[in-house]
Amino acid sequence: MPASSALLTHASAGLVCMSVAVAILGSYAALDLTRRSADSDGWHKRRLIVSGGVTMGLGIWSMHFIGMLALRMSMPVSYNYPLVALSLIVAVAGASMALSVVTRPHVARRGLVLAGLFMGMAIAAMHYIGMAAMQMSAVIHWNLLLVLASIVIGVVASLVALWILVRISTTAEGFGFARRAAAATLLGVGVAGLHYTAMAASTFTRAISASAPHAGLSTDALVVGLVLGAGAMFAALIYGSAYDQRRAALAFDIMTAAELARELCRTGDTGARICQAVRDIAGAEHVLLAQTEDSGARTITASAGVSGDSSPQPDAGGRGHQQHPKAVPIEVFDTLVARGEVEPGLHALPNDATVLYERLTLENREIGTLALIWQHRITRVPERTATLVKMLAAEGAVAIDRDTLINKLEQLSRLDSLTGLLNRRVFSEELERGIASSRRHQRPLSVALLDLDLFKRYNDTHGHQAGDRLLIDAAAAWTSSLREVDLIARYGGEEFVLILPDCSLEDAVVTADRLREATPHGATCSAGVAVLEDSDTADRFVERADRGLYEAKASGRNRTCAGGGAALTR
Ligand code: GH3
Ligand code: MG
Ligand code: MG
Repeated sequence: MPASSALLTHASAGLVCMSVAVAILGSYAALDLTRRSADSDGWHKRRLIVSGGVTMGLGIWSMHFIGMLALRMSMPVSYNYPLVALSLIVAVAGASMALSVVTRPHVARRGLVLAGLFMGMAIAAMHYIGMAAMQMSAVIHWNLLLVLASIVIGVVASLVALWILVRISTTAEGFGFARRAAAATLLGVGVAGLHYTAMAASTFTRAISASAPHAGLSTDALVVGLVLGAGAMFAALIYGSAYDQRRAALAFDIMTAAELARELCRTGDTGARICQAVRDIAGAEHVLLAQTEDSGARTITASAGVSGDSSPQPDAGGRGHQQHPKAVPIEVFDTLVARGEVEPGLHALPNDATVLYERLTLENREIGTLALIWQHRITRVPERTATLVKMLAAEGAVAIDRDTLINKLEQLSRLDSLTGLLNRRVFSEELERGIASSRRHQRPLSVALLDLDLFKRYNDTHGHQAGDRLLIDAAAAWTSSLREVDLIARYGGEEFVLILPDCSLEDAVVTADRLREATPHGATCSAGVAVLEDSDTADRFVERADRGLYEAKASGRNRTCAGGGAALTR
């Protein structure tokens, strides 16, 4: 017969408060980690959920044992290792499983209730296994009603906390700190409530005949375990905030890149805008853009941070003659323009400067190369910067390719496809410009119309292709007989038109005659010329030259006539 008497125990208020605080802290860290799993997926999502489960389990476990330490008993107590370990495993597993259920994309009410029940039961199991782990010269008597009440408290707290977590994960904006803290407080207080209700349900009585306590986990060792547990919870919180910072940085970078990409959508000056954007992002002193032609040759077409008169000049007459900008290390210039091979990445330059080459490619085609130059030594470019530069290079490649295509189309739309001369539309634009300039500077302006003689007969005799060849060769021969400032265009069919700035009627006649002389393949042509008069519109001006041409034809061809006048030359 075990003679027994109720054991006087008292709790340390400080440790009780600490146990509640640990339960709340653990709950907060767990909810915080789990909340983040909503906007990640795959392995990363699982890792966040498991971390949440481990943190939650650790929190419950730490709460329990701090609560036990708070209980001062007049006898030595040790804890059975396997049961202490089992209690931790049960807490972690229960919390992890419940959290993995409520973080699914669609959580049915039944799933939520089951998860809450499961978690509440796991917390209770943890607690009672923890109690069973106590080794002491006492036995515990249970008030079953209070035991039941403790389990109900655990289940209700778990249910409400999990329900809040589901709301946090499924509302688009998530919940702010205050709501997360409220949920964590509720869960933490629930866990502590379970614990202290269970403690109230138990009465310790001294067991006279009880055997000496087995060797087990001493309270000192338990304290070490608890400190480690709390450390793990803090680590989880710190990881969480670092994760948030990374996400915020990523969001910022994506916005920056999107903004820059939108900038690059505008046509014109694309190269300069790419260089400026890259320079701003990377903080480099100079940025050069070399575009790659179809032949593989590179031409520096834009720059940023290369001051004034020493900036690179786009090469008008082919490659190999570009002016080297003084601010740019000669090695970079040489590599881009002359030597050819560019190894992407960071390279040290003499005088402690550094260059980063970044390729612009599109469908495996090299569009160009960016050179970012720092006037000091750099050993690595921060990952975020490198990623943004790469994004810009990719967007830049598309923008440059599009601009090149637009330029080509624009060129094509200005030219006559057979002869390669400017077409009639461009002639009209240029004539308006020429008239305005002539009037502004009070200089004479002449136009001349050239028309091949009996070209229909030429076609009929030699064939249409030979006719084409005559048109092409005549265009080339006439072009080379003109001054730099003169303009020749195909007016239509076998008719051509000249704009002759700073040219009197007499000089226009001389020019027209020179061109007539140059007509190839033994063909001849007639010309009509006119000099701009004050009352002329563009149409009237050309009309007068056309009248001259008509007269040249009418009076026997192979001659030049001024609009309205007699044949001037033959
Ligand atoms: P005229 O001396 O009075 O100018 O006589 P013409 O035969 O040169 O003039 P006409 O206007 O009667 O005929 C022009 C011819 O030019 C008719 C057309 O077939 C030909 N032609 C127009 N465009 C082209 C072209 O692109 N290629 C070729 N091969 N022939 C063309
Ligand atoms: Mg003709
Ligand atoms: Mg004609």
